[in-house]
Amino acid sequence: MAQKRLEGKVAIITGAASGIGEATARLFASHGATVVIADIQDELGTAVAASIGEDKCSYVHCDVTNEGQVESAVRYAVSKHGRLDIMYSNAGILLLSPSILDLDLSDFDKVMSVNVRGAAAALKHAGRAMIAAGIRGSIICTASVGATQAGYGPAGYVTSKHAVLGLVRAAAADLGRYGIRVNCVSPFGVATPMSCAIAGMTPEVMEQMISSSCNLKNVVLKANHVASAALFLASDESEVISGHNLVIDGGNTVVNCASL
Ligand code: NAD
Repeated sequence: MAQKRLEGKVAIITGAASGIGEATARLFASHGATVVIADIQDELGTAVAASIGEDKCSYVHCDVTNEGQVESAVRYAVSKHGRLDIMYSNAGILLLSPSILDLDLSDFDKVMSVNVRGAAAALKHAGRAMIAAGIRGSIICTASVGATQAGYGPAGYVTSKHAVLGLVRAAAADLGRYGIRVNCVSPFGVATPMSCAIAGMTPEVMEQMISSSCNLKNVVLKANHVASAALFLASDESEVISGHNLVIDGGNTVVNCASL
């Protein structure tokens, strides 16, 4: 591999037991970061951490809807590794509802709790730890193309991702004075356990469908494409970028939502 871009840095990634978070944990570790996976799937998360390597990655149980557990995950990273440079708040869920007319408000609360409250807790406690240690850190959230446009998911999900983008902008404004950057990545469609289960498709069928919706010819969006965008935002290469929403969509939204 060429140059390692996260050498010496410590990162927490929420929702890294599978999908985009897992791919990012592997990529960050391969670039020299020490990674803490924070998830609720203990068996899977522990196995992913072990496969990356005990010296580079560990797992902590952390339900992001529980602020105390998010705070503990941050405390764990700082006490075990001495610092926290990167928080990637990626955990998210999507619960189906056909339209606003059929919205189940307890599902709505669940989605908001994981996607928005979880991200807010991650921003708060990572920000506090970075400020306390004088670290000019990078905080990244996973939003979605649904953060700026309806039509990419049910109402609760779209609402939550709009809120994640709002949170990123508000936090970027608050934390800039400490040299802490806050950005988000917004994927379009990646065949992960979550998206395949929701669509009721195999990864292959899902990838074909996503590929045909991309404006760029013959591209298949993969978890690694999102991980690479997160790597850029986590690394010093993006040291002057904050409050940004980096869309990873194979050109989908440029043709579907060109006015955004
Ligand atoms: P995934 O289901 O593979 O991964 C999500 C992870 O979040 C899982 O490991 C899950 O255990 C974890 N998680 C769920 N609830 C949690 C909680 N309360 N506390 C801690 N961890 C929790 O799905 P994915 O597609 O990799 O999704 C990752 C992120 O990407 C999500 O925020 C999702 O909304 C976003 N996203 C995905 C797509 C896509 O097409 N896959 C598109 C746009 C945005």
